[in-house]
Amino acid sequence: MPSYDLVVIGTGPGGYVCAVRAAQLGLKTAVVEKRPTHGGTCLNIGCIPSKALLHASELFEQARLAFGKMGIDAAPRLDLKTMMAFKEQGVEGNVKGVEFLLKKNRIDAFHGVARIVGPGEVVVAGAKGDTQSLHARSIVIATGSEVAHLKGIEIDEKRIVSSTGALSLPDVPRQLLVIGAGVIGLELGSVWRRLGSQVTVVEFLDGVLPGMDGEVRRAAQRLLERQGMIFRLSSKVTAVDTSGPRLKVTVEPSGGGAADIVEADIVLVAVGRVPYTDGLGLTEVGIKLDDRGRIAVDQRYATSVPGIWAIGDVIAGPMLAHKAEDEGIAVAEILAGQAGHVNYDAIPNVVYTHPEIAAVGKTEEELRAAGIAYNVGRFPMTANGRAKVNMTTEGFIKILADARTDRVLGVHMVCADAGNMAAEAALAIEFGAAAEDLARTCHAHPTLSEAVKEAAMGVAHRTIHM
Ligand SMILES: Cc1cc2nc3c(=O)[nH]c(=O)nc-3n(C[C@H](O)[C@H](O)[C@H](O)COP(=O)(O)OP(=O)(O)OC[C@H]3O[C@@H](n4cnc5c(N)ncnc54)[C@H](O)[C@@H]3O)c2cc1C
Repeated sequence: MPSYDLVVIGTGPGGYVCAVRAAQLGLKTAVVEKRPTHGGTCLNIGCIPSKALLHASELFEQARLAFGKMGIDAAPRLDLKTMMAFKEQGVEGNVKGVEFLLKKNRIDAFHGVARIVGPGEVVVAGAKGDTQSLHARSIVIATGSEVAHLKGIEIDEKRIVSSTGALSLPDVPRQLLVIGAGVIGLELGSVWRRLGSQVTVVEFLDGVLPGMDGEVRRAAQRLLERQGMIFRLSSKVTAVDTSGPRLKVTVEPSGGGAADIVEADIVLVAVGRVPYTDGLGLTEVGIKLDDRGRIAVDQRYATSVPGIWAIGDVIAGPMLAHKAEDEGIAVAEILAGQAGHVNYDAIPNVVYTHPEIAAVGKTEEELRAAGIAYNVGRFPMTANGRAKVNMTTEGFIKILADARTDRVLGVHMVCADAGNMAAEAALAIEFGAAAEDLARTCHAHPTLSEAVKEAAMGVAHRTIHM
């Protein structure tokens, strides 16, 4: 039986990054993956394909609405088949990149479903019925998550789709009904609206993007409505009638009341994701789950069974690729005797709509609930020179700083390129910067990032361009 210092189950961003870091640190490492390709949800059916379609559809919309204003005469015509091929190419390039990294770091890769049969032993069941046992000093579970389902609404990935089906629709639906106004619903809703669908988003709560800063949530909803997205808030979908050529969706107020029927060609169920642990043998080996079905771990990612660790979407915390990656690095370093660590206060959260929405650190609601006094600096993109020439003046940047120490506690952005600019916010929080530090840092002109500096100056009521 091949023997390893570490066997990682799952090669999503958590698993493959963990394996690479462990190999760098001298651990003899193997990975097991049940999909034909590496990269997990993120590279195959998540971050990467969705961003490819967001990019392409945004250019399509710009070509329709903005190019003329810049003197570019273009009448774009959609070729959806080629757009899907472009997306697939992006996925292929990325998954091949992971394969290359595993080889480069001399990590053995096994394809099949892994089951833990005891501490230190993993059995891999291959697609052809073959099995292979692996011995491991340590096992890291990085099996990720799967789509959450709604009771009574069966996803067939044809007319009632999850994010996976919504990334590969063969035609642009005339009417798309999205259940859930979270990140995935708004991103994929944006893709299909830009390509020509009428998009209605039904959300149980009374606002979009639950968990984000209230002011940001309201601004995001306004901007998306202006683009043509229709929101049915405080509402729930209770049934989808698939008997006719068009879907008949029953929508009711969340708190009960009269239902009405909305017709749609496609329904996208985007109500979240749940941890994936099927077939891993967790009960048999005695690995404890928490009350939400996630693998329970301590601060060092150790499960309830010695020698078995877990990271990424399958444990608590935001279901984000970069969170999984950082946990992968941390646990590999812990296994190699180092002090691996993730700062959960500095994890950026990005929604890749247009404009983008990004947040790092605390929201105003969280600070108020914790009784922390804070100052607010705000800067609207209408006052940023680069945004003006780029015609991307929607949105604002807001910085929340401790009223006593001026330390940056939260940064919230609704603006073009917010996702990239969130890196500066994360760095500020990671380094324990004061708003004054950001305000005194020279930012290149003309860039959108000057709005970060201005918002930081705004904390002390001294913005220049307002
Ligand atoms: C449409 C969509 C868009 C997203 N966009 C973003 C984004 O823009 N930014 C972002 O940060 N996050 C995004 N996410 C979330 C992101 O994809 C996840 O947070 C991330 O993939 C989690 O990584 P992971 O390594 O924990 O698990 P996963 O990526 O889910 O990987 C787990 C892997 O384990 C394998 N596996 C499971 N069980 C077994 C077993 N028993 N044996 C062998 N292999 C097994 C699976 O096949 C899978 O490949 C998106 C998700 C979706 C669905």
